[in-house]
Amino acid sequence: MSLDGPIENATRITPVKKRALYKLGLRTVRDMLYYFPFRYVDFACAKKITDLVAGELASVIGELTHVDAEKTWKKKMNLAEGTVRDDTGAISVVWFNQPYIARVLKPGTHIMVSGRVSIRRGEKYFANPKWEIINNPQPSVYNMRQSTLVPVYSETYGVSSEWIRWQIKKVLNEIRDIPELIPPDILKKYHLPGIRQAIRAAHSPKNLAEAEVAKKRFSFEEIFFIQLDRQKEKKKNKENRGAAIRPDESLVREFKTSLPFSLTSAQERVLQNIFEDFEKPYPMSRLLEGDVGSGKTVIAAFAALAAVKSGYQAALMAPTEILARQHFEEFMRRLKGFRISVALLTSAESKKFPSKISFQKTADISKNQLLKYVASGDIQILIGTHALIQDRVRFKKLGFVVIDEQHRFGTEQRARLAKKKKEIESHRDSLKLLKKSQIGYMTAAPHLLSMTATPIPRTLALTVHGDLDLSVLDEMPPGRKKIITHVVSPKDREKTYEFIRSEIEKGRQTFVVCPRIEPTTNPSTRLGVSNQPLDAARGEQSTTNSSNFTDRRQRLKLSEMKAVKEEFKKLNEHVFPEFNIAMLHGKLKPKEKEHIMNDFKSGNIRILVSTSVIEVGVDVPNATIMMIEGGERFGLAQLHQFRGRVGRGEHQSYCFVFTDKTTAKIQDRLKALQESKNGFELAEYDLMFRGPGELSGKNQWGMTDTGMDALKNIKMVEAARAEAERMIGEDPELKKYPLLKKRVEELSQKIHFE
Ligand code: ADP
Ligand code: MG
Repeated sequence: MSLDGPIENATRITPVKKRALYKLGLRTVRDMLYYFPFRYVDFACAKKITDLVAGELASVIGELTHVDAEKTWKKKMNLAEGTVRDDTGAISVVWFNQPYIARVLKPGTHIMVSGRVSIRRGEKYFANPKWEIINNPQPSVYNMRQSTLVPVYSETYGVSSEWIRWQIKKVLNEIRDIPELIPPDILKKYHLPGIRQAIRAAHSPKNLAEAEVAKKRFSFEEIFFIQLDRQKEKKKNKENRGAAIRPDESLVREFKTSLPFSLTSAQERVLQNIFEDFEKPYPMSRLLEGDVGSGKTVIAAFAALAAVKSGYQAALMAPTEILARQHFEEFMRRLKGFRISVALLTSAESKKFPSKISFQKTADISKNQLLKYVASGDIQILIGTHALIQDRVRFKKLGFVVIDEQHRFGTEQRARLAKKKKEIESHRDSLKLLKKSQIGYMTAAPHLLSMTATPIPRTLALTVHGDLDLSVLDEMPPGRKKIITHVVSPKDREKTYEFIRSEIEKGRQTFVVCPRIEPTTNPSTRLGVSNQPLDAARGEQSTTNSSNFTDRRQRLKLSEMKAVKEEFKKLNEHVFPEFNIAMLHGKLKPKEKEHIMNDFKSGNIRILVSTSVIEVGVDVPNATIMMIEGGERFGLAQLHQFRGRVGRGEHQSYCFVFTDKTTAKIQDRLKALQESKNGFELAEYDLMFRGPGELSGKNQWGMTDTGMDALKNIKMVEAARAEAERMIGEDPELKKYPLLKKRVEELSQKIHFE
């Protein structure tokens, strides 16, 4: 039995169970062993029923004397109801929306239930408690296990935590060989347990401390493996020769004086970073992080200008057509005095192109013509969407590449990007040949600037972008007004609508963002998945089959559209019937989108309802109100980005975060948004208080919960990075560690194509 073999090699399972496991992303023996419990329930802490206090979190052990599925109880809800009895008394247990529990649990079974003790009409009961079947309720039996801890695993329909625990136990008994991939000196240095010991401890710990140490090992392991991959990339990149871009003093001066504003000191510093990178012998690989509105585009334009003036072409790729167009327009504005040609290429349009006759005007040209100009070098800067990475786009001498919001590109595009990288690498091989043959001529690899407004915690940046150098724009251009932010609970909804109405009547415009309507999942998926609604998507996320990706993206688009349509209907028919309202979602054709955006920019449309797509870009200074529905569904950093859409003009701007969930925790979280102006701060807040599983875009990093958890620990992340850097420095191909090398390569594939 091998770790990489399918689960059914290790344990006999039915096709139904197999499908359920696939849904959890579990395919191989390794997947199974790396499926860690998200918590442990301690038998030793079980109380007697008579001692339970309403409101507390508690566990009891007893016999399930009766259990039934019922249809209604006030509302039309499916529920399972039962009674648990011990030697001191009895208590009711209710599971809402989980009628199947009545089928799974038979009267007479000994179970432990664990959850909050609720009270209704003076009667105590458990609502939706976690439960475990206990085969033998005698305390002496637990003592024989030498541990009172029971692991609890995330479940899905068809596989319970109990069942998973049982299967893992079987696999653990069967498996002979679990190779250790982390070099022993590293384990020793950081006091981490060996693999076998750690796997055992994670699934059946003697005590919580042991479980904690095991978890630490797996957190370290994940970060370390990612770092090995990134450090390898970084090292490889350094073997390329970079394009020779040398901006001279006069160009720098000329550009700066041509701007209607002066650069912030943060912008100056970042440009300094970039120009220093241009001087280095190898190509730049730099990530530029900066809040929405911090002025990243002008930096990209400046650097592109420098590239062009050194005889190279530059390319900028944006994730949406709207953004690509906006960049194109800003480049035109910033570069119009420099007599260079800028073109726009998206899948819908290939047209705008500064005509050769007048550099002030744009002209439409055919796609073929445009491609010819790119190939001949007549087009010096090409801006566009992922249309830029099509095979038919050939540059003459590409020296500088900007990717805006790289992570927003879909799976397929990212896979293509990875492929482009491969091309550059094979290009490197041909370079070596050239060197050998002593031909004087050499081409060079383009410099890369990746820009993002998604504020992520430092530890996450160090990990997922470990191969990139980091620049941060932490200063806003002067003159941006403070945006007044309010968290709106249901009772203030009407009042807020009235306020918005009066602002629109004064001539302002409003953005409305709504969260997607999640496709209704079976409620049992949520059983035991401690407040992580996103978790249900995990099974899909780890599918490597591309048709599934498309499926999923289609479904997401559909659910987004549904949410937008419902909100639109509500506002249009009931709340603001007097205003011109439009909606924007992923299912619209690019032409339609453009049309709507133009109508919004021109002020024709007063209210624009959209999905989170407007999160990036889109500059409409007259839009002063950002209204967000279902605020609790978004990460704080993401909300902060929505807010950044307004406050760009002369008028006071507002951000209203509507929420129907009024728990203190949610209110507190949203309050943080009111107080903080900085997206990075908010990302850290999300990481610490909301849990790494809820970091916006968790799915896109291809990391597990265990790995994400490690991000709270900066020391660990830095240690993993330092060790990886050292190892790659000494042994770039990991020749001494063939198994580790193989594993890192597998993970790298998975992450690139996830
Ligand atoms: P983002 O970082 O979100 O991409 P943009 O590049 O779109 O931000 O910049 C937002 C706006 O601020 C643009 O209209 C841009 O022209 C303007 N801007 C950029 N830098 C400065 C500056 N130093 N002073 C004043 N305005 C600036
Ligand atoms: Mg931008």
